[in-house]
Amino acid sequence: MRLNRRRFLGTAAASAALLSSPIALGQKRPRVVIIGGGAGGATAARYIAKDSDGAIEVILIEPSRTYYTCFFSNLAIGGFQPMSKLAHSYGTLASEYGVTVVHDWASAVDREKKVVRLAGGDAISYDRLVLSPGIDFVKGAIEGWDVTAQTKMPHAYKAGTQTQLLKAQVEAMPEGGTFAMVAPPNPYRCPPGPYERVSMVAHVLKQRNPTAKILILDPKEKFSKQGLFMEGWENHYTGMVDWLTDEFTGGVQRVDPNTMEIVLEDETIKADVCNVIPAMQAGSIAHQAGLTNEAGWCPIVPATLQSQMDENIHVLGDATQNGDMPKSGYSANSQAKAAAMAIRHALTGSRAFKPRFSNTCWSLISPDNGVKVGASYVATDEKIAKVDGFISQNNEDDALRKQTFEESLGWYAGMTADMFG
Ligand SMILES: Cc1cc2nc3c(=O)[nH]c(=O)nc-3n(C[C@H](O)[C@H](O)[C@H](O)COP(=O)(O)OP(=O)(O)OC[C@H]3O[C@@H](n4cnc5c(N)ncnc54)[C@H](O)[C@@H]3O)c2cc1C
Repeated sequence: MRLNRRRFLGTAAASAALLSSPIALGQKRPRVVIIGGGAGGATAARYIAKDSDGAIEVILIEPSRTYYTCFFSNLAIGGFQPMSKLAHSYGTLASEYGVTVVHDWASAVDREKKVVRLAGGDAISYDRLVLSPGIDFVKGAIEGWDVTAQTKMPHAYKAGTQTQLLKAQVEAMPEGGTFAMVAPPNPYRCPPGPYERVSMVAHVLKQRNPTAKILILDPKEKFSKQGLFMEGWENHYTGMVDWLTDEFTGGVQRVDPNTMEIVLEDETIKADVCNVIPAMQAGSIAHQAGLTNEAGWCPIVPATLQSQMDENIHVLGDATQNGDMPKSGYSANSQAKAAAMAIRHALTGSRAFKPRFSNTCWSLISPDNGVKVGASYVATDEKIAKVDGFISQNNEDDALRKQTFEESLGWYAGMTADMFG
């Protein structure tokens, strides 16, 4: 089976090798194919390639040449980071670590034959497959909204043009206008993400449009770091933010992207900007591959991240149903290292240890006002289980909040270096 070389980005040596020996079933080195070059997939690619010293061939399939991190994308909306700082490429993974990067969509996984089919028509065989496709939105979750509406009512929950669009819309809001967020139900990517976003939007409006209003229409009765966000909104954006749960509104019945209306049980709201974040599920390739459960997520074996449906496939990050770990970039990165160790053990006999997992979710509420929540985790037989945790406290002094924000900047630099080299 041949790969189309034009879709490769790799070292000169890798390209030369492909010229003389097209990738075929029955190759000598064991091969790991990774679908998705985000927090989980890029980390797994780097760790498997780096720690196996070339003993394992690593092929990463990712349609985009530039990965925009969702983490810190809210800060871009708030004007605290330029969009260019969120952009990362795959060049170092190819040139320094010998990862073959194929820019294409994986369109199907043939688990029987252990082959991934690409939208461009090629097919790649694997010994182990890693799936880290992130999330997709549940179809029909909000009546009147589908992905064709995302240019009018952006989700900005996959970073890049969506982030830029939402930022531009906020900046162009009429004086005294309304920003409405339709918040997602659990479970979803980045539990504090919607509320950090509200903080960043409030920061922009406070400077440019202080009589504007922010409405959060939320199906949940509580949310991550709620006390910290509520305190921050009260102190820094007094009277600007209203958080309305379904109990109060009766729930969002439907939206109309053409009229910018949000229909509630007894009322219709007209918004100037409407940020719709629908219910989520594992990325669609996981469904195609038959790796999802009734809830739409991929159950995994906690210690190795192997799919409970197929021991030759490891699932990482947001797509997993793992137990206690939240859907975050840090979680995906941490899980990727455990999976990389298990894969090297399975394919080369290298030593494997009991994994420990970590996560911290930082959020910026206002300038230099950072908060965090985090925990460490172990793999039990049933799930990835939380063993201890920490959270910022209300009424912390300015110096501590600044230190927490600076910690988050250090984390971002370390995290992206860990993913992309
Ligand atoms: C606003 C916001 C703020 C956030 N802030 C933080 C934060 O501060 N800290 C934190 O830790 N996390 C944060 N997150 C969450 C974090 O971005 C995700 O949890 C993380 O990216 C998940 O990693 P992943 O590998 O599962 O998916 P992703 O990083 O989304 O990667 C998935 C990749 O798979 C590719 N893909 C999908 N389908 C296919 C296919 N069929 N074929 C080939 N490739 C495919 C996609 O193109 C994508 O590049 C935030 C998220 C949002 C939305």
